[in-house]
Amino acid sequence: MTNGEWMLAQLAIVLPWNIVHRISSIHAGKTHSGPDKVIWGLSNCGEFFVKSAYLGSIEAERSPLWPWRFIWNLKIPQRVIYFLWTLLHEKILTNLHRTVRGMAVESSCPRCNCSIESIDHLLRGCKESIITWEKISKGSTASDVFKGDLKRWLVDNLQSGKLTDDNLPNYLHFSNMLWFLWKWRCNKVFNPNSSTPHSPQLIINKFAKDWMDENFVASSRDVGPSFL
Ligand SMILES: [Zn+2]
Repeated sequence: MTNGEWMLAQLAIVLPWNIVHRISSIHAGKTHSGPDKVIWGLSNCGEFFVKSAYLGSIEAERSPLWPWRFIWNLKIPQRVIYFLWTLLHEKILTNLHRTVRGMAVESSCPRCNCSIESIDHLLRGCKESIITWEKISKGSTASDVFKGDLKRWLVDNLQSGKLTDDNLPNYLHFSNMLWFLWKWRCNKVFNPNSSTPHSPQLIINKFAKDWMDENFVASSRDVGPSFL
């Protein structure tokens, strides 16, 4: 903090953007209120104890408001699980996140040139993503694609027990779709001449079916999602 104002750019280097946003809404203090000092909020006396940090992290992971741990039990490709873990922790380096971390000067979307490429824009707001969702969804891959809270939307679709028209688990199709959207976006960054495939549904369907064939015997598929 300096001059009674939060140094948001510094905070953004070490904290997720949503946390920085919440901090910015807190009064930064009064002039003459003394020097700043660190107070640990998870202990009654304000001092740091490893035990309080451990208990705090356990409590956060068990929070019913954000039940992300179920992703480790999803029957989906391992690389997609790791991608989801990064995504759900808001660690995906979109251009907005790269900018607030001082890694880039442009926060704009590399696909549509919208001024801010946030995670929500990447997955649901970008016109290229919208076109891809429309091609692949057929009303079953993602519910209410462009509405509501982003995290709620992610969890609802990843915990869906529905099947797609091709009799594949909806959560498999959905999670693969998220991963491909990121993959194709990164391709665009490293190769500006590349573009989203004209038939993304064929690629994602094949990816899902190949993975199923490699990992499950067709006659004994038990692909229902299991949650903690
Ligand atoms: Zn865009």
